[in-house]
Amino acid sequence: MAEVTWEQVAPGVHVRRHEELNLNCGLVVGSERALVIDTRSYHEHGMELLAAVREVTDLEVVVVNTHAHYDHCFGNSAFRDSQIYAHSGAVDDLVRTAEIQREAIVAHMRRTDREHIARAIEMTEIVMPFYLVEEDTELDLGGRVATLMHRGRGHTDHDLVVGVPDAGVVFMGDLVEEGADPHMEDAYPLEWGATVRAFLDSDLGADSGTWVPGHGLVVDRAFVEDQASLLERLAARLRELLDAGALGVDGLVSGCRGLGLEDQTLRDAAVRALELRTP
Ligand SMILES: [Zn+2]
Repeated sequence: MAEVTWEQVAPGVHVRRHEELNLNCGLVVGSERALVIDTRSYHEHGMELLAAVREVTDLEVVVVNTHAHYDHCFGNSAFRDSQIYAHSGAVDDLVRTAEIQREAIVAHMRRTDREHIARAIEMTEIVMPFYLVEEDTELDLGGRVATLMHRGRGHTDHDLVVGVPDAGVVFMGDLVEEGADPHMEDAYPLEWGATVRAFLDSDLGADSGTWVPGHGLVVDRAFVEDQASLLERLAARLRELLDAGALGVDGLVSGCRGLGLEDQTLRDAAVRALELRTP
């Protein structure tokens, strides 16, 4: 297995990409506290991440979950002594879906012959974030701040972005994805592009050159602009097709081909667009 290490993307700002799902976790080190961004999929994974954090810093650790998908927050149980921040919508989502997510991922692990991971996820205690964010929130890490921001619905209805203004780094969670299509299953395809655009247009975004997706390689501003444009084109096309009336999922999918997204992505987006349109 390839060695997993922290990549320092700016002074005191680190990214750790994991083989499983190409998931990125972040670490921002101040002079008094360190911020960990996302906690991986289950307790042992969280413990392994915590051990990696301890190789970089002994400071008190604060945690933020970018959203309520299991791969970003089921490792919280390893950080139960820390303040864990998330958007309030993430807690609502976890209350509703944590056990459903657990069941689905355990079944998937069993189907793909990964019994030990299935067991580990079954045994993991779901630890809720309990510092809830609804407006921009600055975390003082000592000598630097990290800003938690929500700008509307996109990958979920509660995506939190973490900006490190002094370093020009933005952790986008799954609002941006590198190496795979944006993941639409719980998404708001008619709004996602505008939400990413809002971050690009923000003071923080304008000054930031390093953007960390939830999965895949660290990217630059141009990549995020391309992804915003793609999502805006998808939204415009979906809206046109919906306004033209009476199209099912298949009609929406075929109408959106040619944008450069996979059929499965278009299918998920179409299902969501139709669901969300129903009053
Ligand atoms: Zn996600």
